[in-house]
Parts: sequence; structure tokens; C-alpha cells
Amino acid sequence: MKRTFLALLLVATFATQATFAQTTKVTITAAEKKIAENITAAQISNYLYFVASDAMGGRDTPSVGLDITAEFLKMNLQRWGFKPAGDNGTFFQKFGLRRDVIDPKATSVKYNGISYEYGEDLARVGGSGSISAPIVFAGNGWMIKSKGLNPYANIDVKGKVIAVFAEGEPGGRSITPLPAGVTQADLTGTRGTDWADVNTYGRANGAAGVLVLPSKFLADNWSEVTAQFGRGRMVVDKLTPPTPATPTGPSFSLLVASPKLAKAIFAGEQGDPMNGATNSFDVGAGKKFELSVATKTEMAWTQNVIALWEGSDPTLKAEMVAVGAHYDHVGTNPNAPGPDKIWNGADDDGSGTVAVLSIAEALAKAPKRPKRSVLLVWHAGEEKGLWGADYFNKFPTVDIKKVIAQLNIDMIGRSKAAGDTNPKNKELSGPNDIYVIGSEMMSSTLGAVVKGTNSGFLKLGYDYKYDDPKDPNRFFFRSDHFHYAQNGIPVTFWFDGEHEDYHQPGDHPDKIDYQKMEKVTRTIFLTMWELTDLKERPKVDKELPAELKQR
Ligand SMILES: [Zn+2]
Repeated sequence: MKRTFLALLLVATFATQATFAQTTKVTITAAEKKIAENITAAQISNYLYFVASDAMGGRDTPSVGLDITAEFLKMNLQRWGFKPAGDNGTFFQKFGLRRDVIDPKATSVKYNGISYEYGEDLARVGGSGSISAPIVFAGNGWMIKSKGLNPYANIDVKGKVIAVFAEGEPGGRSITPLPAGVTQADLTGTRGTDWADVNTYGRANGAAGVLVLPSKFLADNWSEVTAQFGRGRMVVDKLTPPTPATPTGPSFSLLVASPKLAKAIFAGEQGDPMNGATNSFDVGAGKKFELSVATKTEMAWTQNVIALWEGSDPTLKAEMVAVGAHYDHVGTNPNAPGPDKIWNGADDDGSGTVAVLSIAEALAKAPKRPKRSVLLVWHAGEEKGLWGADYFNKFPTVDIKKVIAQLNIDMIGRSKAAGDTNPKNKELSGPNDIYVIGSEMMSSTLGAVVKGTNSGFLKLGYDYKYDDPKDPNRFFFRSDHFHYAQNGIPVTFWFDGEHEDYHQPGDHPDKIDYQKMEKVTRTIFLTMWELTDLKERPKVDKELPAELKQR
């Protein structure tokens, strides 16, 4: 009889939840509405014009603009009497960002026994490992059977550094530009067999590396090239294992040479690539190119901003409803084509940042406290890969098991105007609509509270279109709530949809629909309030998508 019994038992347990879930009518009292009305469009606009001003420089992680925004949040939280919930009684949870960079002073570059300056005369743009090998010149390095091109026909590149010269800007699928008269469309068949750039050919044929000789483009842009290369990717120190001292796998380096080094290599040789030589040949019999790279670790620091508003119920206040946003964006781009070099991130996610701040202010102004506590987390590094949320969930500054739900606000400030036919705004939600993601994915109770609060208040157009882990846009996986969900915490994510200024310099505060933000933020506030006062915390009673089972 077993199963049914089991089935029966199951039905019994979830009865309360299910009945609550299915038939939830959330009643928003007049007193609760009054509290939510402390959140106003004027207040939100005032904060957003500060957070998304050019002065914040697009709040990259790490950056001064981000740190100033963190201080701004802290100043207000202190004024309103919030409890610091970061490190050691502060509002900040600091975390280290590590970048392994090539140490030019400790890196040695030699050709034929003569030393050259790393950074000045050579830069590594990819690959790893040290080199001690002869050089072979291979023209522009492109082997394209369909065009009858093969610079490797009469040379052997095994164990050598392949020097190549190609005018123009590198792009597309290679470190060297395509030869004149060849287009991407000519790269038919299999890469490596029917066509190959020098990088592909070299790796496949046991070369020690590639040395790109200085075309006019490279010579003119040497400082940019050397500035951006040789600097490893920035990672979160405590979330990323150290780079192995001795790189795994075959060592192979992609290098660019300065005019000075290139001239020295080809002095007295049968041809000078910088002056038009194109035929392949072995360079400098008996001469060796030697490179031994030393790296050093650069550390930078950033912070999540974390505050607690303690609940009033002696028992329930041990539990918390978390509300969050990311206060970072992508910074500036000095090489941006247009005059505007600052990615202000007013909607992404300045809107969430100040929505959470206005929720904090409303809590502080409320005549009473909710039963459970409220945990506010402003995450750093979301744009870099959900860094702050990942860090907080792996190194929580509070008892994460007591977090009953997380409400994530990421882009709620833009609305599609009537008659807007811009294809980039096709999926942008209207002035009274918002996408809601995740609420029904883990906990039927949470789903019901979210839905019930809305229908018991402003009846906004809650669009569940993206509320599916299989949705090709994968929005569920693309913002901070994801790491809370991975931690087994039911989540809900409010999002207005991609638009013409998504990750563009034009994401400015003067394009924000503050009336919409006021409505959405008040609704999220009341959803939080309903959750803080629930008799029982929402249970995870849904089959979790595979990605959430990985923990
Ligand atoms: Zn965002």
C-alpha cells in the first residue's frame, strides 16, 4: 500500500502550503499600503541621478565610482539606523580580486644572447610557458587550400617560433588579418586541414609559439597592445584556485614584437618582412629566441554592501527575507566610437540599487517593524560574473540557512512607449508591466505570495514569459538571485526586459520611467512584507532545474 500512503502523506504535508498556494488571497492592509507609499518616484529619481551620474563613472568593479556608491549607501543606512551586516560590524563585505600579470622586470627576453625589454620590445598576447627556440619566417602565416596559399610548404615549424607579418588590424578569427583579397567566406572546409591561421597551424605542428611582426597598425598602437595584454583576467581571489606556477599542457606563446626587436631579428637575413619580403625561410642559423616569463599577482579590493533591519517577533526575527540588487555596472570605454564614454547603468542596475535603498528608507519610516528581519544586499561584480552574489553565498556574513527567500531587482526602470517600433525594444515591458522570473520555480508558496500581493495591490502586468529555466535567454541564470537559488533559497527576480540602451552608454537616468519604478518598488516592498509575516517559511516544494541541483 505504501506509495499511496506516501502519496497521502505528501498531500497532507503540502496541504497547508498547497491550499495557501492555490487559493492565496493576500490582503494588503491600509496601514501596509501607507508604509509602501513612503516610496516615491521623486525619492527614487533623486537617488538614481546620483548613482547613475557621470561622476560615478559607470561603477565598474573595482573602481572609485563603485566605492563612492558604496559609501553613499552606507551613509544612508547609518542615518536610518540599519544594523551593519558585513564584516566585523561594518556594512561592507570586502573581497579580494586577483589578477596575475606578467612582471616585466623579472621577465627575460633575449635574441641571439642580446637582452630586450618585456613590454617595450615584446608583449605576450596569449598562451603560456617559456621559450628557447630558433625562429622561422612564414609570410602572413595563412594556409588556405582554396586559394592555393601555403607558406609552410618548404619549412618545418616544429620546435620553432613562427614569425609572421601581415598589414592591417587583427580581427575575426585570428591574431593576423586575412591576406589581401581573401574574405572569411573563403575559409571553407575544416579549420586546420583546409585552412589555418598561424596560431592554428603552429599549435597543430608542434611550434614553440608565434611572433607577430610589427605592421603599421601594431607599431601605431603598441602602447594599447602592450597595455591590455600580459595582464591575466581578474578573478575573485577566494573563489578561484591559484594559477598553477607551471602551466599545464604544451607551452605555446602568442607574441608581438616591437619594430626594434623585429629589426634586430631580420638584420642581415635573406629578406626583411617589414620591407616586403613574403617568402618563408629559416631565420638566423644557430640564433635562439629566449623568453622566460615571470608573473606577479596584483590584488584589488571591492565590497558587497550588507545591512539588516531587525524584525519585531522574538522568534521569527531570527529568519530573514533578503532583498538585493547589483550596484555595479561596466564602467567606461575610452575607445568608444561616440562622444559618450561612460556606461552610466541607470537601468542596469542603478534602478535596482535605488529601489532597494528606497525600500530601506520605507522600513526606517514605518511605524512598526515586520515580524521577520530584512537583509539588504547590494552586490558588486555582477557584470563580471555574479561575483558579489557568488561570494556572499559561499562566505555568508549571516546564517544563510535562515534566509527564507531572496527578492532580486535588476532593471525595473524602463518602459516601452506606445508606438515604439524600435526592434531593440521589442521585448521591453510596458509602463504597468514587468517580467517576474523564478517565483514559481522553487516554492509554490513564494509564487503565490508574489502573485497574490500584486493582485491584492496594483495589479501590475506580471509577465512570466521568461520564468522557465529552458528559456533561451537564460535570464534566470543571469543575475544575482541565481546563487541564492543554488543555495536552496527560493527566489524571485523582477526585470523590465532588454532594450535599446541595454549595456550602452545611453542608459541614462533621464530615460527612466519613475512612475513605473515607484509602482514596481512598492509592490516588491509589500511582497517582502508579506513574506516577513508568513506563519511558516516557504518550502522548496518544486522539482529543481538541473542547474540548481549542482551545489
Ligand atoms: Zn544587471
